[in-house]
Amino acid sequence: MASINDNYLKLKAGYLFPEIARRVNAFTSANPNAQVIKLGIGDVTEPLPLACRQAMAKAIDDMGDRQTFKGYGPEQGYAWLREKIAQHDFQARGCEVSAEEIFISDGSKCDTGNILDIFGKNNTIAVTDPVYPVYVDTNVMAGHTGDANEKGEYGGLVYLPISAENEFTAAIPSQKVDLIYLCFPNNPTGATATKAYLKEWVDYALAHGSIIFFDAAYEAFITDPTLPHSIYEIEGARNCAIEFRSFSKNAGFTGTRCAFTVVPKTLTAKAADGSDVELWKLWNRRQSTKFNGVSYIIQRGAEAVYSPKGQAQVQELIAFYLENARIIREKLAAAGLMVYGGVNAPYVWVKTPDGLSSWDFFDKLLHTVNVVGTPGSGFGAAGEGYFRISAFNSRENVEEAMERITSTLKLG
Ligand SMILES: *Cc1c(COP(=O)(O)O)cnc(C)c1O
Repeated sequence: MASINDNYLKLKAGYLFPEIARRVNAFTSANPNAQVIKLGIGDVTEPLPLACRQAMAKAIDDMGDRQTFKGYGPEQGYAWLREKIAQHDFQARGCEVSAEEIFISDGSKCDTGNILDIFGKNNTIAVTDPVYPVYVDTNVMAGHTGDANEKGEYGGLVYLPISAENEFTAAIPSQKVDLIYLCFPNNPTGATATKAYLKEWVDYALAHGSIIFFDAAYEAFITDPTLPHSIYEIEGARNCAIEFRSFSKNAGFTGTRCAFTVVPKTLTAKAADGSDVELWKLWNRRQSTKFNGVSYIIQRGAEAVYSPKGQAQVQELIAFYLENARIIREKLAAAGLMVYGGVNAPYVWVKTPDGLSSWDFFDKLLHTVNVVGTPGSGFGAAGEGYFRISAFNSRENVEEAMERITSTLKLG
C-alpha cells in the first residue's frame, strides 16, 4: 500500500487567501452592485517593460531558425545572463559575486523551498513572525517541524516576533539557530534593513556557523541610498548567506517567471562526519538533477532588464508603484491610522484602529468602503492587529480606495 508524506497533514490548509476570497464572494453575492477594490494580493498589475517584450520576440525568432534554435540550455542558466546579473546587481555595488555563483531559476518561491534539499534534517530554523508563508510551509513539508498549535505556530521552529516595538526588525536570537530566513525589503511589513542591522546577523551567523537565507525580491524598491540591496554588501556574508532574487517584482515577471539564487563558492556547512562541504557543489548537483533550466526566450527577456532601456523602464515601473505606496501611506495616516513600510517597499503595514483584530478590520473595510486588504494575522500570530495594503494596483484604484477610506470610514 502506498503511503503519503504525512508532514503535509500538519499544514494549516492554505487558510489566508481562500478565506479572503470566501468573505469577498459572500459580500459581493449579497451586494451585487458594490464596486470592490482589491488591494490585497501581492501580484503586479502593470504590463511588462517593452525592452523585455522586444527581446523575447526576437528570441522567438531565434527559435524559428535552425541556425539560432536552442534546445536544452545549461541547468544553471545561460552565461550571458549570469554575467550581466553579476556585473549589474553585485559587482557594480562592490559585492564580490561571480557569474558562476548565480543560478537562474523559474522563481524565488521555488528556490526558497527547494534550497532545503541540500540541508540536513536536524537544523534549528528561525523565521520572523509575521513572515512570507512559503518559508514556514516548505519546512513543514520537509518534516522539519512538529504540529501547529491553535495560533498556527509549528513546534520546533524558532519564531522571531517583529512589530512596531522593534521597528519590524527581529532581535538577534539569544539561542543558537542554524538556518535563518530574512526578507528585506520585507513582505508583509514593508520594513527595510540597514547595513548595521544586517551586519549583526552576519556576525551572529559567522559566530554560530549558521546560514542566512536572504530574500531580496523587493530590492528594486529601495530608493534610500544608505540601504543595502544585497546581503553581500556586508563583509563576511560570502561565508554565511545565500541570496534569493527575482524578476517578478522589479520587471513584472510574476507571470513570465524568472529569478536567481546566489550561492557563493566560499559557503560551507557540516557533513555528518564533521567535514566542511561546499554548498555551491550541492546546489549545482541538485539543480542539474532536478531542474532543466529556464526557457531561452524568458532568459532573453530577463537579460533585457539590464539594457539601458530596460533599466529605465524598470525604474518607471518601480516609481509608479512607490507613488501608489506614498498615496496609501499619506491618506491612511491622514485618516488617523498608524502606518509602516511603503517607502522603500510596495507594502504598507497598518496598525488596526481601536484594537480591532486583523479580520475585524478586514470586515469593516470590506463592508463599509468595499476595499479588500490582507489581514496581518494571516502572516503569523504576531501579525494580529495589523493589516497589509499592497501598492500593486492601478493609480485609479488606489486613489479611489483611499478616497473612500478617508471620506467615508469613521476611525478612532
Ligand atoms: C513575490 C515574492 C517572491 C518572488 O517569487 P517568484 O517565485 O520569483 O515570483 C519571493 N519572495 C517574496 C517574499 C515575495 O513576496
